[in-house]
Amino acid sequence: MLERITNQKQIILNYLEKNKSHPSAEEVFLNVKKILPRISLATVYRNLEQFAQTGKILEINGATKRFDGDISDHQHFICNSCGTVYDIFCKFPSAKNFKNHNHKIGKIENYQILFYGTCKKCKK
Ligand SMILES: [Zn+2]
Ligand SMILES: [Zn+2]
Repeated sequence: MLERITNQKQIILNYLEKNKSHPSAEEVFLNVKKILPRISLATVYRNLEQFAQTGKILEINGATKRFDGDISDHQHFICNSCGTVYDIFCKFPSAKNFKNHNHKIGKIENYQILFYGTCKKCKK
């Protein structure tokens, strides 16, 4: 039983690591279901939340919550027209200073910057 649960988690993580499209919980569910036909959306969701909390994946809190298996330092650009989430890897000079910054409210442990615009594909 324990082995099965571990296996479940691994399959979900593997999917996210291979899939760079920033899937929503539902998309992860539909794809993982092909390998684990009896898995429920609630289970997938619970695992995703857990992975995000422990820093194994990123959670992107746009209009739809999405998940990212790429935890390297990068930001996201969300297209207002098609909803595609793009990775942005350019360095923003001050961004790295946010992390672990002791603000008067409390220590900043993490931060998320979302950029919104219309992607080139939609502009055509
Ligand atoms: Zn677009
Ligand atoms: Zn990303």
